[in-house]
Amino acid sequence: MADETLSNLLQENRRFEPPAALAAAANVTAEACERATADREGFWAEAAERLDWGQRWDQVLDWSNPPFAKWFTGATINASVNCVDRHVEAGRGDKVALHWVGEPADDARDLTYAQLKDEVCRAANALTELGVRKGDRVAIYMPMIPETVVAMLACARLGAPHTVVFGGFSADALASRVVDCEAKVVITADGGYRRGNPSALKPAVDEACAKVASQGREVEKVLVVRRTGQDVEWDDSRDVWWHDAVGGASADHTPELHDSEHPLYVMYTSGTTGKPKGILHTTGGYLVGTSWTHWAVFDLKPETDVYWCTADVGWVTGHSYMVYGPLANGATQVMYEGTPDSPHKGRWWEIIEKYGVTIFYTAPTAIRTFMKQGDDIPAKFDLSSIRLLGSVGESINPEAYMWYREHIGASSAPIVDTWWQTETGQILISPLPGVTAGKPGSAMTPLPGIAADVVDDEARSVPNGSGGYLVLKEPWPAMLRTIWGDDQRFKDTYWSRWEGLYFAGDGAKKDDDGDIWLLGRVDDVMNVSGHRLSTTEIESALVSHPKVAEAAVVGAADETTGQAVCAFVILRDSAGDGGSDIVEELRKHVAHEIGAIAKPRQIMIVPELPKTRSGKIMRRLLKDVAENREVGDVTTLADSTVMDLIKQRESSAAAKEE
Ligand code: ATP
Ligand code: MG
Repeated sequence: MADETLSNLLQENRRFEPPAALAAAANVTAEACERATADREGFWAEAAERLDWGQRWDQVLDWSNPPFAKWFTGATINASVNCVDRHVEAGRGDKVALHWVGEPADDARDLTYAQLKDEVCRAANALTELGVRKGDRVAIYMPMIPETVVAMLACARLGAPHTVVFGGFSADALASRVVDCEAKVVITADGGYRRGNPSALKPAVDEACAKVASQGREVEKVLVVRRTGQDVEWDDSRDVWWHDAVGGASADHTPELHDSEHPLYVMYTSGTTGKPKGILHTTGGYLVGTSWTHWAVFDLKPETDVYWCTADVGWVTGHSYMVYGPLANGATQVMYEGTPDSPHKGRWWEIIEKYGVTIFYTAPTAIRTFMKQGDDIPAKFDLSSIRLLGSVGESINPEAYMWYREHIGASSAPIVDTWWQTETGQILISPLPGVTAGKPGSAMTPLPGIAADVVDDEARSVPNGSGGYLVLKEPWPAMLRTIWGDDQRFKDTYWSRWEGLYFAGDGAKKDDDGDIWLLGRVDDVMNVSGHRLSTTEIESALVSHPKVAEAAVVGAADETTGQAVCAFVILRDSAGDGGSDIVEELRKHVAHEIGAIAKPRQIMIVPELPKTRSGKIMRRLLKDVAENREVGDVTTLADSTVMDLIKQRESSAAAKEE
């Protein structure tokens, strides 16, 4: 038992078959999966036919120099043409591309595909005027407003790779990304609305430009959208208003077709496990991978669906499943600027009701927050338009899945739990809603055309019922091409553990049917008396207790067991303070749900958990607390005061114990 790769603790027997009506009309059937297995490259070539190309490709995949893949070699394509022009040319110019919703009440704007095309063309002309040329990098530091999408597509049109930096990040984070990818122009706004107030962006850009200059580089131009109207400092030689430059530009722009492998963007990872990496995505394969998966996994019917992905554009989900995938597919979608609880806790549900959202894609962290607040909030809104739900970012705990299904999906909408990474660019493991049954907590099966497996230390495929490392055995179209400027780090980080295998850093298991369950980062695996325990299953056991909303588990050094399980728990609002025996009650609950070996040594009830901007729990910081260390790098935390709150709780709990 002690030589196991990763324990398999949690048993989950609930299962939901695809709704019959959805299955009957589904975009993808079981037959597609068989075809893909028989001829992977042929399958992706067929998916590529859904896009508009200039020159056709000579080769679907060139894998002659692994791990450096080339997809659709020799072909030419323009991403922005595929996302806007071709829909207008096909007579769909009046179709709404974006239902944009600002955070302040009644601040909303619809953009049709024709309007979006004009804006993208104007912005492309304006950027050219500002000196942006093919191959130049452009940093985008913006709130969630339509201009952000326009800016990205204008860069793509010119072949100037963008790097979008989340608007909540500091001047330091912006500066380090600008320096790393040598961006010469920054596109920003005076500010955006968050939590009911205008929050400034331009001052951080000014500060970042100074930092960049101090490192001997220069940001040549800063293009500024006026969003909030707040006062801004102005550098006449550098700063340009968007409404002047873009507003005054022509809406005619003849796009150049770029090589399929031309860089599209650099995106920095969330930094959950360490220093963010600049992930490079290129054009043709990326667009094939994102548009096909968006159509297949969400069963998108562009004529009738209203799609909403709540991700910020500052992380990869916003790139693949708000910008490139959906727009390439001609979808109508919602884009929302603000926070879910502004001006009231039902804001998201109100938006779904208003626009008749049919497909909704969000993160488990948000779902657990809604669980914490109570069922009565979504119950006040008409969510009957919803026909499909998606989840991304972390494993969805079975109880969170059940809550999502019942309270948002009327106990009928299928849930697609989509596993992927900044590096993978596209969804790789997910149920197909018309083919695959849903099991609460499982990402189920690799998509057609994807060769994923769970292996042991010797890279042997593990049998059903066992855990191990999640790997990819064959290239896929939207895969990262390298880490920007650092091919060696690319090889070392992803390809060095086993010859020829991409190792994603995640642990996973196969259940008795061979379906895949993600178990968290292998870096977070705990070794308790020789048993290798993953974080996810213990967290899910805690979340299955009716008083618990969220949980994070880490391993802390322990004299007798090597490591011991330490849990940090947020209670549901309805549970009050949980009662005097709450800690013992939860320890027993875990032992009962998954076994005594997983029983936490210590449980701390906390008001919040440290999360990245994309909502992932930063377990490494909790481990610092559990092991009484100085807390490490907090620069990618959404709210840096959270760690102080947790430390205060800990010291008052320690005082009580004494
Ligand atoms: P860094 O690599 O800098 O530490 P990160 O890995 O948090 O940052 P992302 O690329 O945003 O940055 O996150 C990808 C990771 O998110 C995956 O490796 C996986 O751990 C987790 N993840 C995403 N979707 C799922 C899912 N559906 N189920 C389980 N885990 C998921
Ligand atoms: Mg990662």
